[in-house]
Amino acid sequence: MAIRPGHAYLALLQRAAYARIGNPPPTFDPDELRGRGAANAEALRDGGPFEQELEAKGLDAAKRRAILERLRQGNTQVGTHHDLEKVLAAARNAPTPYVDPFHHAILSKLDGRIANLGRRQPELRFASALRNLRGRVIVSTLLMGQVNARTLSVPGTDDYLIVFDPVFFDFLYCLSTDIACAIDGDKALQGARQQASASEQVPVSPAIRFGDAEVTRRFLHTMSAFLRWGLPPPPQPYDEKSFDLAQHLREIATLFILAHEYAHLLLGHVSAPRASGPQSDAAQQPTAFQQELEADWLACSLLDAILARRRVSRATQFMGVHFFFVATMLAELGVRAIETGKPRQLTALIPRDETELGDTHPVALLRMANVNQWLARKFPQHLARSNEYLEALVLEVASRLWDNVQRHVLDMRAKGFEGPALWKSLDVFEGPPLEAPASDSDEGGAVPHQRSQAGDVPRCPRCGQKINMERYGPQRALHIDAVRDECPDCNSLLLISLADSSVIET
Ligand SMILES: [Zn+2]
Ligand SMILES: [Zn+2]
Repeated sequence: MAIRPGHAYLALLQRAAYARIGNPPPTFDPDELRGRGAANAEALRDGGPFEQELEAKGLDAAKRRAILERLRQGNTQVGTHHDLEKVLAAARNAPTPYVDPFHHAILSKLDGRIANLGRRQPELRFASALRNLRGRVIVSTLLMGQVNARTLSVPGTDDYLIVFDPVFFDFLYCLSTDIACAIDGDKALQGARQQASASEQVPVSPAIRFGDAEVTRRFLHTMSAFLRWGLPPPPQPYDEKSFDLAQHLREIATLFILAHEYAHLLLGHVSAPRASGPQSDAAQQPTAFQQELEADWLACSLLDAILARRRVSRATQFMGVHFFFVATMLAELGVRAIETGKPRQLTALIPRDETELGDTHPVALLRMANVNQWLARKFPQHLARSNEYLEALVLEVASRLWDNVQRHVLDMRAKGFEGPALWKSLDVFEGPPLEAPASDSDEGGAVPHQRSQAGDVPRCPRCGQKINMERYGPQRALHIDAVRDECPDCNSLLLISLADSSVIET
């Protein structure tokens, strides 16, 4: 069976990236994932291996109990907010076996929304260019050691890869919850509304949960786990009320970055594949700085067009975009603190002059300012002001969290931690050029994936959303064999066979 060259090329890059850190690439066994919650519960039982470890560290019974309770609560909670079978169904279409099924499920859902924009909104300036890209963009993950994504062309083809660092997902997942837990959602909306109609800056402090030790502790767990291992901490319990905001922040952040990478393609920033030599993406060209800002500018328009369809209020639409920039700042502060041992505040990341500008990706605050300019230009004033309030709020929350946690991070360095191998300017493109495998080669390692099997609940092949077959009762009654419909989740156009419940994307 022929493997799509882009998939084989991606598998090659993924294996090379893990080889650089001396690990085999991970694979994800569905049954292991199904049993993960139970396995964690078993490890966290009274007198179990985890408690024994704590006891060996000299913790008394009361402290051990408190820690175990927290972790058990987090373990239970984490399982309640996702549909594992849906995630596993979407993972059957993953381009390689090395992609975390959770990451793949999120990416394919969001990719569907962007890829289908050209069809859904033909009046958009980039609609035909987007339609032209259909079926040519593979969105996946690749270890790069950055809280970010990049786009490259697949040698010898017209296809492109948009790859996100898997650490990006894990970090944004944890951090979105940390930040959401530190925000009083009702007061935040109230403040945003107030600023929309006022001419002066409304203070953000009333919307921040001050003095909540739990909030600081969560953030400390997040930072120390990523800085030590480049991996998330064990699930921490969170305030259920924060879940929706956290989910909103990370989803919009990811959608914005995906839109940014698509924008590089639409704007012609990604060079055509060359026969040999290292692949380079737009960020390595001399005009990279300007291109970044242009890609953000277009990404704002793409995001606005998608969210308008999904009825996300324009008054709060950009909070997740600002959250992304803040996340990159916190990652940078953490890594720098571990590397240099010098304290630094979040506000110190504001560049003072040209020499401090990032040479590839402009520093986060400049990109934020660019996004704000877009808002000022394209949004009615009151909506721009409401988003500005939420931006100030996210910045202030992050700044305070970092102030509380920085000394612990500096302590980690004093105790000899050197920062994570997974998250320290690891760049697979720095090494010898990676050759694209021949298109008919079977050695690429990309395992041909299975289509949905008979007997399964029919699901969208792109995002795994269940298809409600009952809706098509009338068509069945008329002996119609197949219907065209749109996936309610990712907007993909589906051809659904009423005869055998198979679903294909068209
Ligand atoms: Zn870029
Ligand atoms: Zn879908």
